[in-house]
Amino acid sequence: MQTPITYLKGVGPMRAEAIQKELGIKTYEDLANFFPNRYIDRTQFFKTNQLHTTNSEVQIVGKITHIKEIKQKRGSRLVATFSDEYGSIELVWFKGVKWIKDNLKVNTPYVAFGKVAVFNRQFTISHPELELVTEYKKSLRSGMQAIYPSTELLAKKGVTNRVMFKIMQNLFLEIKNKIGETLSDEIIEKLHLISKKEALFNIHFPKNQEALEKAQFRLKFEELFFIQLQLIRKNLLHKAKIKGYKFEKVGNYFNRFYTDILPFELTNAQKRVLKEIRADLNKNVQMNRLLQGDVGSGKTIVALLTMLIALDNGFQATLMAPTSILATQHYESIKELLKNTDINVALLQGSTKTKERKIIHENLKNGSLHILVGTHAIIEDTVQFKNLGLAIIDEQHRFGVKQRAKMWQKNKIPPHILVMTATPIPRTLQMSIYGDLDISVIDELPPGRKSIKTIHKYDSNRLAVFKFLKDEIAKGRQVYIVYPLIQESEAMDYKDLMDGYESISREFPIPKYQISIVHGKMKPEAKDFEMQRFIKGETQIMVATTVIEVGVNVPNASVMVIESAERFGLSQLHQLRGRVGRGSDQSYCILMSSFKLSDEAKLRLKTMTETNDGFKIAEVDLKLRGPGNLMGTQQSGILNLRIADIVKDSAILKLARDASKYILKKDPNLSLPENRRINYVYSKIIKKQGIWMYIS
Ligand code: ADP
Ligand code: MG
Repeated sequence: MQTPITYLKGVGPMRAEAIQKELGIKTYEDLANFFPNRYIDRTQFFKTNQLHTTNSEVQIVGKITHIKEIKQKRGSRLVATFSDEYGSIELVWFKGVKWIKDNLKVNTPYVAFGKVAVFNRQFTISHPELELVTEYKKSLRSGMQAIYPSTELLAKKGVTNRVMFKIMQNLFLEIKNKIGETLSDEIIEKLHLISKKEALFNIHFPKNQEALEKAQFRLKFEELFFIQLQLIRKNLLHKAKIKGYKFEKVGNYFNRFYTDILPFELTNAQKRVLKEIRADLNKNVQMNRLLQGDVGSGKTIVALLTMLIALDNGFQATLMAPTSILATQHYESIKELLKNTDINVALLQGSTKTKERKIIHENLKNGSLHILVGTHAIIEDTVQFKNLGLAIIDEQHRFGVKQRAKMWQKNKIPPHILVMTATPIPRTLQMSIYGDLDISVIDELPPGRKSIKTIHKYDSNRLAVFKFLKDEIAKGRQVYIVYPLIQESEAMDYKDLMDGYESISREFPIPKYQISIVHGKMKPEAKDFEMQRFIKGETQIMVATTVIEVGVNVPNASVMVIESAERFGLSQLHQLRGRVGRGSDQSYCILMSSFKLSDEAKLRLKTMTETNDGFKIAEVDLKLRGPGNLMGTQQSGILNLRIADIVKDSAILKLARDASKYILKKDPNLSLPENRRINYVYSKIIKKQGIWMYIS
């Protein structure tokens, strides 16, 4: 199976090179696993009197009874009369006329295949596929004809579908008896799977729909099974191997804060999550937990309480955020909450002055600094903790795996890690990417929140919207107005933002109104300054690009206007909306769009007006965009699936997951003889991965 495809009949060095370059296929094995992306149903044969113009592609058995070449303005056209016992149709060629004419056999049975059209009141197939019935019977083709993905270059190099199909035939004639089983007998029996050999053969040469479906099921299952096996095993290994600090007690820091300072009662969801975290911390094993909670569900306080447990056990803690606005905000609110304690907190970001930075470095090293809040700046090599026990990462999708790995390579024993995200992960993806990674969910909002009213308005309603904003501002509220900023059209977006800013300045004149503006081209200090003015209530309107998307908390802001809302993705819209509805006032999200909307954009806007539930929105988003844009998918390999589809095949995914769990429970090291084949495939996959497999 490892033979290079050059050695295969019908391939040769030129084609081999093109195939490798375009499709990445090097060996027989690669080729066998290059699956068709669709099939043409050739189970049915038509008679010449059964044809209809709505037939897409048909095949007919008949004989050529007459050939004529008709001269045209340019070149000529070849017309053959093709007859069966019920009548006749015309086969027509415009290209390669001479060659075809010389090679057509009269009065010999052929299978003609192609798309029917009506021309001069005659059913016609132009450029049909023609095959002698004797050849047809010998070929592997039976029933469903495979159509392979192709590229322009391949077609140019003569690797058409017909050629690819011939190559596949040659391949399977050669390897038919060399395809080994990959799953255990037990799984095959339990799930009524067909053998690997049969499945591979039938994915290329299915007799009929039923055979095809069985082959697809088996191959999809197998693909998902090995991913699940890795994920689940990885997690088991992680749990068994990676030591962590044991935080044995909950002490004064936590308890005092909880009873004397905490300004509200935790929601039940927050309490439950905290319990889950405490259980992790008390185990001698590194915590690696994902804390998922919709925007506004109160993740920050959970983070702070967790850090206090670290402090109670004599460790330092750090909280890392993706933007300096967000880091600053975390810092400010934590400092405020801890102001009557002896806990030291510092903020470290790119813009931190050298002098201040030095002090922070020193105090981290000598242990007098307890909590460090910051941006990426935290993971620079110069930052050394005395004893970092806990690292909390907010909004993880902004950080890559490598950065997170760096975080724990700072110590011999890695700190416990809590990753917080407001992007809900649909159930289907949760299983497929995260395996059994520990996930805690805050699925309850703090009491007293009014649910945000979301309204879709067309640009032509702008005046009414402005009027509404004025009324809200008159009540003392604040307003966000957000413009899209998408990298590819940055210059234009920037212009839109500035035009918008200008017209808003005209509509909301000073001194009655004060406006902040924040966008990506501003210096961090300028951004911070504008942001702070808004947070302090000195400005009533914040005009911004999506920099404010993540985490910003201004409870007095009650209206979110999103301009060109049709250009935002669903999860982004949901994130933006989450900036309001944080206080006790009724909040609003106004989605502005033009009249011209694609069906997909309509669905997005409709979904937003219909629900505030982040999980529902995430499911719709997954269906619309596929898993590619969601976090974690890059590393998980689920994007490179050959045949399965995470969304459409979620039922098979569940089977695969259950089967992997079952196998690993009985045989955690895959060392039992009955799992020999599984172990073989699994080891091959793992070899390619190296150390990344230890990082969740
Ligand atoms: P997010 O999960 O989006 O990060 P935050 O942690 O910023 O949410 O919390 C949003 C707001 O809700 C904050 O003002 C916070 O003080 C408040 N909050 C958090 N938990 C509670 C609670 N249990 N009761 C009342 N208010 C809460
Ligand atoms: Mg937050």
